[in-house]
Amino acid sequence: MNPIRPIRPRVIALVVVVILVITGITWRSVQTPADIFDSARAYQDVVKQVELGPRPPGSQAHAQVINYISGELEKAGWEVTLQQTERMGHAIYNIIAKRGSGPSWLLLGAHFDTRMISDRDPDPARQQQAVIGANDGASGVAILLELARSLPANLNRQVWLVFFDAEDQGSIPGWDWILGSRAFVETLQGQPDAVVIVDMIGDVDLNIYKERNSDPGLTDEIWAVAAQLGYDIFFIPEYKYSILDDHTPFLERGMRAIDIIDFDYPYWHTSEDTLDKVSQKSLEIVGKTLHFWITSP
Ligand SMILES: [Zn+2]
Repeated sequence: MNPIRPIRPRVIALVVVVILVITGITWRSVQTPADIFDSARAYQDVVKQVELGPRPPGSQAHAQVINYISGELEKAGWEVTLQQTERMGHAIYNIIAKRGSGPSWLLLGAHFDTRMISDRDPDPARQQQAVIGANDGASGVAILLELARSLPANLNRQVWLVFFDAEDQGSIPGWDWILGSRAFVETLQGQPDAVVIVDMIGDVDLNIYKERNSDPGLTDEIWAVAAQLGYDIFFIPEYKYSILDDHTPFLERGMRAIDIIDFDYPYWHTSEDTLDKVSQKSLEIVGKTLHFWITSP
């Protein structure tokens, strides 16, 4: 009787199991759908924010959306910090997520607050209602959260995702526009190589024109990526609006910053900025364009 014989099949079995595990892991890391921007998950981020109700600074839903965003970023493995400061007597909370290292530094931003009044509503009785912000607020946040989940962790660059507070309260007594991004830029050390703001990009009828205050070179770069993906009917290669948005404080400090915004939105700052105005397809167009741009060498 050969004492080795009974052991042999076990050894072979063990080797086979080890090979299966290793090849399985390799296959998953190459093929994993986790590397793809999933617009269904992004749309669910819009749904969850809308379910909280309007999210103006100081509201309970505002505190809840900060917890939601931070929790999703942590689950996706990002280093998350909360910048707590104050502007015009109001508490400001910017959420900053960081990952990666390397020779270049990209910063993507979106505001998470929603406007406390629907002052452009055609019905005067509704003008004191808070905006739900399915598009103006939730859509930009959704794009950034799904990028957090889907960007490869081993990019040879540093990526920051910044969720700005108090963007959308201008022309209201005691408030101003872009308080959160102004506070962020004032304390920012160093200069990102590119800053991309997304705002109101979930509109069912997506028409994103080039924005006149944005850095023209960076604008052309992103519009070229969109065209490469066949999205040039949505990223229209023409200039249209000049917008004050969260890219403004970066531009004022000489940084390459752009605002990706679809300003042809009839429900802007009305009680009708609701979930039915946002489409998963629009989130996909913008999300995949940014994902491709960030992951391109
Ligand atoms: Zn707004």
